[in-house]
Amino acid sequence: MSITYTERYGEVGASLSFDITEVLFSKRSPFQRVEVVQTAHFGKLLVIDGFVMLTERDEFVYHEMMSHVPLFVHPEPKRVLVIGGGDGGTVRECLRHSRIEHIDLVDIDELVSEACLEHIPAVAEGLKSPRVTCRYEDGVAFVEECREQYDIILVDSTDPISVGEGLFTESFYRNCFNLLGEKGILVAQSESPAWQSSVVKRINQKLKKIFPLVHFYQAFIPTYPSGFWTFCMASKGPHPLNDFREARYRKANLSFRYYNEELHRGAFALPTYVKELLNEI
Ligand code: SAM
Repeated sequence: MSITYTERYGEVGASLSFDITEVLFSKRSPFQRVEVVQTAHFGKLLVIDGFVMLTERDEFVYHEMMSHVPLFVHPEPKRVLVIGGGDGGTVRECLRHSRIEHIDLVDIDELVSEACLEHIPAVAEGLKSPRVTCRYEDGVAFVEECREQYDIILVDSTDPISVGEGLFTESFYRNCFNLLGEKGILVAQSESPAWQSSVVKRINQKLKKIFPLVHFYQAFIPTYPSGFWTFCMASKGPHPLNDFREARYRKANLSFRYYNEELHRGAFALPTYVKELLNEI
């Protein structure tokens, strides 16, 4: 008899099931249930409140696209703030850039990092780097009270429900804007235009009220709802394509599994129905 783990996509009445062989971690924090399960074909799977956060098989797509796109656009990134991202995947990718001096990670739930450090160390290990400070507190309150400045803010959040809801509000985005330096860039995971179009639409409307430049880009993440996923880049000045630092990209000589020079440009090309959703045509 096989055991399966199923994520239900309520908005479209569909689901995705994984064959699993073992439950490795299952605990409740004051905020959410955190689980790590061993799947038959996708490596370990991190689940929060029944939602897939990452699988070892395809986490590189999400983490590379969230990090390297803004890092190769900002003229001189040194200080990064990651909100959410307690699994450590985004921090791991940022650390690959030697010019990054410091990363503050602010996740509401230390249990997420604990589970990943214990069971998915290849993703989480960067959390122990001396260049990283981990704070376990609400990202919404953090950006309201913080007086530091950052070059890049990465919002690596759960969906806009429960504790993640505040990370999709206009006041949160405004506080992030205020923490960014002159050429600052914010990137947020922005859900699936195929199945969560109203969320994508709202993120776009809110960010456009605050940032002079707002551009969505896409990635194919097989284990996320519909597989068609977007990120939103909101910038105080640098343009995602005109300011792409090709020379720096080549000199860095980093090896990626998903991201590359052509894809950096191609990811910003969006289907017509998504452009319509974003009021771009
Ligand atoms: N890649 C993922 C996805 O799109 O499904 C996101 C993964 S990451 C694990 C999401 C993190 O956001 C979780 O660890 C969760 O604890 C954190 N989070 C949710 N609400 C938060 C808040 N208000 N402040 C800080 N972190 C928050």
